[in-house]
Amino acid sequence: MIDRDRLGEFVRMAWIEWAHEQPDPKPSWLVPYQDLSEADKEADRRIGEFVMNVLDKNYHPLDLYQTEVRRTTGTVGFSDTLVMASMGLAGETGEVIDHIKKYLFHAHNLDQEKLVKELGDVAWYLTALCNVIGVPFKEVIEKNVEKLQKRYPDGFSSERSKNREEH
Ligand SMILES: [Mg+2]
Repeated sequence: MIDRDRLGEFVRMAWIEWAHEQPDPKPSWLVPYQDLSEADKEADRRIGEFVMNVLDKNYHPLDLYQTEVRRTTGTVGFSDTLVMASMGLAGETGEVIDHIKKYLFHAHNLDQEKLVKELGDVAWYLTALCNVIGVPFKEVIEKNVEKLQKRYPDGFSSERSKNREEH
């Protein structure tokens, strides 16, 4: 494991390199790591550690996505976020269906790019729901995979679908 101060120094080096490229860098941008306040040093150490953890794959990509969803959630509190996320999920699912309806019945093109964006919106609200109930999104997916492997060990089968024990 790299020393925390060393990580902080790397972050600061990248910052100073960027500052030198700016037309009019503020003097505070050019302060070397060793001359920073303890709070600023700690911020740089944490950024370094965060990047290291991501590189070490300690962070699942879905964990990072879940953090991004949390960052961009405007509501505060359990009830408001629960209502907002579930309404949003239904709304965005409707947008996906509307696009498919237009393709099937109104001779529109099946615009893959648009569908990808709408599916992303569905994923956002789904993840926001996971956040509000305090469950990692990856856990939802893992449990679903577990269920599918148990129910359909040899791929989908109508028989197993009709006679399944759990939902
Ligand atoms: Mg949408």
